[in-house]
Amino acid sequence: MSIKDNLNSIKSNLPEHVTLVAVSKTKPVCDLMEAYNVGQRIFGENKIQEMADKYAEMPKDIEWHMIGHVQRNKVKYMAEFVSLIHGVESFKLLNEINKQAQKHNRIIDCLLQIKIAEEDSKFGMSASDASTLLQSDEFSELKNIKVVGVMGMATFTDDMTQVENEFKFLKHTFTELKAINSELHIISMGMSGDYKLAIDCGSTMVRVGSSIFGTRNYN
Ligand SMILES: *Cc1c(COP(=O)(O)O)cnc(C)c1O
Repeated sequence: MSIKDNLNSIKSNLPEHVTLVAVSKTKPVCDLMEAYNVGQRIFGENKIQEMADKYAEMPKDIEWHMIGHVQRNKVKYMAEFVSLIHGVESFKLLNEINKQAQKHNRIIDCLLQIKIAEEDSKFGMSASDASTLLQSDEFSELKNIKVVGVMGMATFTDDMTQVENEFKFLKHTFTELKAINSELHIISMGMSGDYKLAIDCGSTMVRVGSSIFGTRNYN
């Protein structure tokens, strides 16, 4: 199926309250334009340089989401245009985003990445660290960022019961954090293999790549 067909079939399955981030990492601009031309306006990338290059080449009504791990020294390359940073997992990073956003006179929306997977390789903060952060004085001083929700990545496994439990844990964590900060409204969870389950568990934003653009080639 074409990118257009893939996109239309996924969109027809999404409830209205769920936002689709088309994950276009490693894919050429012509593929992204195919999605753009059938109405997709939100793209997710996991490398800042690649996202900045695509931003420069593509129409300016696109929302660019950074979904990957963010190195503090690279925030400056996306501060001018990024619309949502999914993978924020420390105060230090939030502080740097705030500093760079200030330079562009912007407020950058961020999600706190919560560690929900068992594997050590998955990034993220604990639910209690996220709670502490949101209640801290130093956080309340950051005027150029806004934490609007949480993001999580489930364990890479065929055990869908485990994935479901991890998604439910993220939803539960979101509810606790929203009681602290009512600005939270986004739960970013679910990818090509598990987005339907994620939606059943409360996801409001799914990050789908290979089901739209086909498998990735990292060479
Ligand atoms: C690559 C990636 C996705 C999309 O994965 P697919 O399985 O291709 O849908 C989603 N979220 C993150 C953080 C990713 O890095």
